[in-house]
Amino acid sequence: MKLSEHVRISKRAIRHLFSLSRSFAVCLFLDAVLRNALPYVPIYFSARLIDGLYEGRPLGSLALYAALTVGIVFLLSLVSAYLTSRRDVAQNELNLNDEWIFSEKAMQMAYSSIEDPEVTMLRKRIAIESQTGYNLWYLFNCTEQIVSSMTRILLSLSMTLSFFFLEGIPLLMKLGFVAGILFTVLCGAFTTRKSEAIFSHFMSTAVHMNVFDGKYNDYIRHYSSGKDIRLYDMAESLLAFNVDIMTDFHRRSLYLCWKQAALKAADVALSHVLKFCVYLILLYAALSGQITAGSIARYVSCVMLLLGAASEAVAGIQRAFVNHTYLKRYFSYLDIPNPMYQGSLTVEKRDDNEYFVEFRDVSFRYPNTDTYALRHVNLKFKVGEKLAIVGKNGSGKTTFIKLMCRLYDPTEGEILLNGVNIKKYDYDEYLSIFSIVFQDFKLFAFRLGQNVSAGPVFDGERARQCLIKAGFGERLAAMPEGTDSFLYKEFDGSGIEISGGEGQKIALARALYKDAPFLVLDEPTAALDPVSEYEIYSKFNEIAGDKTAIYISHRLASCRFCDKIAVFDSGKLVQMGSHDTLIAQKGGRYHELWHAQAQYYTDATAEA
Ligand code: ADP
Repeated sequence: MKLSEHVRISKRAIRHLFSLSRSFAVCLFLDAVLRNALPYVPIYFSARLIDGLYEGRPLGSLALYAALTVGIVFLLSLVSAYLTSRRDVAQNELNLNDEWIFSEKAMQMAYSSIEDPEVTMLRKRIAIESQTGYNLWYLFNCTEQIVSSMTRILLSLSMTLSFFFLEGIPLLMKLGFVAGILFTVLCGAFTTRKSEAIFSHFMSTAVHMNVFDGKYNDYIRHYSSGKDIRLYDMAESLLAFNVDIMTDFHRRSLYLCWKQAALKAADVALSHVLKFCVYLILLYAALSGQITAGSIARYVSCVMLLLGAASEAVAGIQRAFVNHTYLKRYFSYLDIPNPMYQGSLTVEKRDDNEYFVEFRDVSFRYPNTDTYALRHVNLKFKVGEKLAIVGKNGSGKTTFIKLMCRLYDPTEGEILLNGVNIKKYDYDEYLSIFSIVFQDFKLFAFRLGQNVSAGPVFDGERARQCLIKAGFGERLAAMPEGTDSFLYKEFDGSGIEISGGEGQKIALARALYKDAPFLVLDEPTAALDPVSEYEIYSKFNEIAGDKTAIYISHRLASCRFCDKIAVFDSGKLVQMGSHDTLIAQKGGRYHELWHAQAQYYTDATAEA
């Protein structure tokens, strides 16, 4: 990484620190300066005290030095203690905000990005690296280390500068002294660099294992795995597998630890040799009458602090540079663009519901795949119509819906709403015209009403009506807390567990509550029992009202009531028309599918 990039990342990182928690960042800087200035107060006044004693100063002025030392240190310590505790409190805010920006980003990025395995891997990798200390923890630790050491360097230099102007000390000795300091700092830089390189290598090899281990533990701990683990007696083998992983990890950590300790020992040995030389030089100066006893104490203390601070500053900068590689990845996640937000047209809210949707020669490949999920699809339909989409599994039905509601953009061709490419509409507004129930819908462990309204507040009566319409009425009546009941047990021990079919009904109620002009149901009865399925079919026209309804199903009997039926096969739209038209086309895909299913029902009935 070039120096200019280090500078750019440093600036952004500091801004980021302030944006996550201003009070944390302010306390960090002030506390670092104060705490590191503290030792210089007794050093300065003790030197004055010793010289005062030698010079036979009156007791009063000596006592004043002592009082000043204690008083200033006391005051500074009080302020520093306050800043430290403020900082500890603010660190909580910092960590929460850091978590939150990642959740916020996940909600704001394009759906294609959130589904992209590379983005998932990137997010996990950043999470693991952050857990290990990189990114934020390193950022504020390195910042603190650099500010602390710079404070000590400045104060030590200001209090030792006079040493270099002492005439009785030979120039060679002074130059040797400066060279010694530089040499120690360079050696420190070398060992820190080596140590960080070893650690980084260790980390990069550990990432995949950490990701795997995290998932593994999630699986073991989640209550939904509890049944399988018990019934298949998996506990012992799961633990044994984990022990193997951990043993290997500890062996490698121990090796890393020894290597780092050896490097640190070399560094410490060298700086102590230099410290011994400093003593010799100062003893020489004192014996030749160049400096007072008080000055010896001051120089020795300051030079020791200077040496430590110089190595620490270099190490801090080096560690910050190492962390920049990780921060670059961290920021790269936050910078993932959302190409969906290009349009600005408002979606005309038409009272007459006269919308036209057109797929014009649309082909689509999922990111990072070579095969087309949809190929040259041309299709037009009018809002208010009921469109059914049928076809075998994997024929492209769900993909068609994902494209229509712009979770993805077509690879080729275009989709138009009222003659305008849907990319030109304001994205959020465009999404607002769809109420969709996907097969893999997600409910949250919040209140039932919140799940229906898809937000923290809900209109209880409206939510109830939607749930009844969706066939959840009977179950709702049996719930003592009605729409205030919690789903699942994550946040509330008395939360209710629901079956797949019940979940599907709640998801349908959520779509109805949104009351958007388009109602799209992707296999809405897949998890329902036959009676509930029949209820949904028979009430479908009532449920959909005057909305445009798109209904995906592989059960053809349920599609007969739709105005149009689109038949998909291997990503292609192979037929389109009413049930009567399509069934009349002998040899067509629809005719074939219809008879295959009819055959099944006839055989089943005969057997019964
Ligand atoms: P259907 O709804 O008709 O069962 P889909 O539209 O879900 O079919 O899938 C069409 C094709 O696209 C299938 O071959 C499926 O494997 C593939 N596909 C679906 N989702 C993804 C995805 N997220 N990434 C890659 N391929 C996908």
